Amino acid sequence: MFDNAPEIYVVSRPALDEEEISRFLKDEALSWNRSQRVSSAEDLCELGGRVCYMSYGREQQRSNTVYLKNIVANGHHSVLEHAVWSFMITGVTRSFSHQFVRHRIGISVSQLSQQYHEEQGAQFIPPHGVRKGSDLYEHWRGQVEAAKDSYIAALDALDNSNLYKDLSEKEKNRAIRSAARSLLPNCIETKMAVTANARALRNFLMIRGGTPGDLEMRSFSVRLLTVMKEEAPSIFADLEVVLSDEDGLEIVQSITGRAK
Ligand SMILES: Cc1cc2nc3c(=O)[nH]c(=O)nc-3n(C[C@H](O)[C@H](O)[C@H](O)COP(=O)(O)OP(=O)(O)OC[C@H]3O[C@@H](n4cnc5c(N)ncnc54)[C@H](O)[C@@H]3O)c2cc1C
Repeated sequence: MFDNAPEIYVVSRPALDEEEISRFLKDEALSWNRSQRVSSAEDLCELGGRVCYMSYGREQQRSNTVYLKNIVANGHHSVLEHAVWSFMITGVTRSFSHQFVRHRIGISVSQLSQQYHEEQGAQFIPPHGVRKGSDLYEHWRGQVEAAKDSYIAALDALDNSNLYKDLSEKEKNRAIRSAARSLLPNCIETKMAVTANARALRNFLMIRGGTPGDLEMRSFSVRLLTVMKEEAPSIFADLEVVLSDEDGLEIVQSITGRAK
C-alpha cells in the first residue's frame, strides 16, 4: 500500500528453558496446564503473569489466548514486558529515526553513525506520494543529488584544510564528517538495531501507527504489527491493520479503543 516499504528483520525472540521451568514447577509442587501451539513469548508472559496469584494449576484454567487478552484488557501491561525482541531495521529515513528514539521506555537503539560512516554511497528515500517518473520526483531527486554532491565536496574541502590539524586521525574524521553531514537531507536512509519489549511495542504502535499524516511512521507500524501478529498473536490481538476512511491507506487501530 505504501511506496517505500521499510524492512524489518526479527533477529532475536524469547526462548524458554524448559528444564528450568520444570524445575520451578516441581520445587513449588505445581503443574501448569499449558496451551498448545503458543509462541515462547506468549508462554513467557503467561508464566510470568501467573506468579502473581500462583494460578498455574487451576482446573478451569484459561487458555493462553484468553489469559493474555484479559491481561491486555485489564491494563496489566507490565506482564507484557517479559517478552523482548530484537530487530534490524533498514529502509527508513533519518526523520523516522529521530522520531523513533523519542520512545524512551523499554526500547533500546543502536543506529548507523554519520561520524564513523561516510555517506557517499547512501540511499535516499522519497516520501510517500513522490512517485518515480513524476515531475515532483525528478525535482526531489535533483535536490537530493545536489545535497549529496555538496556533502562530498565538503568532505574533500575540510580534509584539505588546516581546521583539524591538532586532532588525531580518528577525531579529525569525526570532525570532518560531523561538519559535512549538515548538508545531508532528512530523507537519507539509516539503519537501526532495536530491542524492545511487547509493552513498548504496543505503545509505539498505538501512537505512531494511528497518526494519519505521518505516512512513514504509519507504513513502518503497519509492517511491524504484521510481524508481531506472527510472533505473538495473542499479545497484539486487539491491534489491527485497517484501511483508513480518510485516505484508503493502511493504518493501525485498536479494536477496543484503548490508548495503551
Ligand atoms: C503526532 C505526534 C506529534 C508529535 N510532535 C512532537 C513535537 O512537536 N515535539 C516533540 O518533542 N515531540 C513530539 N512528539 C513525540 C511525543 O511527544 C512523544 O515523545 C513520543 O510520541 C513518545 O511517546 P511516549 O512518551 O509515550 O513514549 P515513551 O518515551 O516510550 O514512554 C512510554 C510511556 O511511559 C510513560 N513515561 C515515559 N516517560 C515518563 C516520565 N518521564 N514520567 C512519567 N511517565 C513517563 C508514559 O506513560 C509514556 O506514554 C509527537 C508525537 C506524535 C505522535
